[in-house]
Amino acid sequence: MKYLLIAFAFLFSLSCSFPHYPKKYEKLAVFSHDTLKNISTNALACNQLKIQYLGCSNLLIKYKNESILLDPFFSNNPGIKTSLGKIKFNPIYFKKGSDFVNKYGNSFHDINTIFISHSHYDHLFDLAYLLEKDSLNDAVKIYADESAKTVVQHFLKNHTFLNADSFVYKKNTIQKWININSEMRMLIIPTSHAPHLGKLHFMKGNTDNLYFKNFTQSTQKISANQFKEGHTFAFILDILKADTIAFRILIKGAGCEINNGKISDEILKEHGIDLAIMQIASANFTDCYPQNLLAQIKPKQVLITHWEDFFRPYAPRKIKTVRATNFSYFFKKVKTIEGVWPVKKLSDQFYMPKPGTMVMYEF
Ligand SMILES: [Zn+2]
Repeated sequence: MKYLLIAFAFLFSLSCSFPHYPKKYEKLAVFSHDTLKNISTNALACNQLKIQYLGCSNLLIKYKNESILLDPFFSNNPGIKTSLGKIKFNPIYFKKGSDFVNKYGNSFHDINTIFISHSHYDHLFDLAYLLEKDSLNDAVKIYADESAKTVVQHFLKNHTFLNADSFVYKKNTIQKWININSEMRMLIIPTSHAPHLGKLHFMKGNTDNLYFKNFTQSTQKISANQFKEGHTFAFILDILKADTIAFRILIKGAGCEINNGKISDEILKEHGIDLAIMQIASANFTDCYPQNLLAQIKPKQVLITHWEDFFRPYAPRKIKTVRATNFSYFFKKVKTIEGVWPVKKLSDQFYMPKPGTMVMYEF
């Protein structure tokens, strides 16, 4: 009987990591089917920042007339093709993604800056198509590492590609903030990438130039395993008002490993984090993430990204959670820091948007 119970408990905890509809989080109002969501971080709020979740770590951030895109990826491919075969551009999902963007009057052409958190295929795959088809404006600036450049080398025309490594945050030096315009600036922070499964960390290292030399058409089949991680970055985005920081966002496109996710106190002293955008995928396989980071930054709000299963067709009413990720375990880890960062009601601080959702933060 004892062994039967143990086996049952084991199977139950394992099943929490299988893709499933996020019913529990819908009941807790952490997840909803809203496509427009207003979140106020200040009772006297008079400014509004729009963040559209486009799936995985793909985000469109809009403040006034400025648009920034992060980690462009729309082309869901089945898991079997991703791990053993080849993936390809998916026109149906790309159309869905561009419909999301157009729905609120935005366009890829309006994007002036793109940031890539790392070079796994689910963070930059559709950049090649956007570049090849001239969907972006010529003046767009792309900040990414050399691995990402290797991937898109044949699709860069007059676009400006800047090596993110030469902008990264270094302690005790003058910071290389990237001025997006007079009211927005971005800082690139080096970080680690959590393992994907247990202690296994796939697709490490830099992309192979020889392999990507043949990637000359964005719609050709290609091995997902060749999209090596490169260097992984987190970002801090500041909205400035009269030279002071009015709203600060931390953006994480990957979970991180022990002692490697903390933000320098030097940065936090200047201004705390109002909004933390944190990916949940593979958070299971690190002991420290997200609680160590949350205990340090104590954000007012957390937007959970990279949470849906991107190995299956997009089905808005039947959306499922990302594989190998136990959401209860994620929130259990959050609970361990309630002495330092209290969370009374999950939905007061956490929101997990459906792809396409425009989340408006008022500050
Ligand atoms: Zn990754």
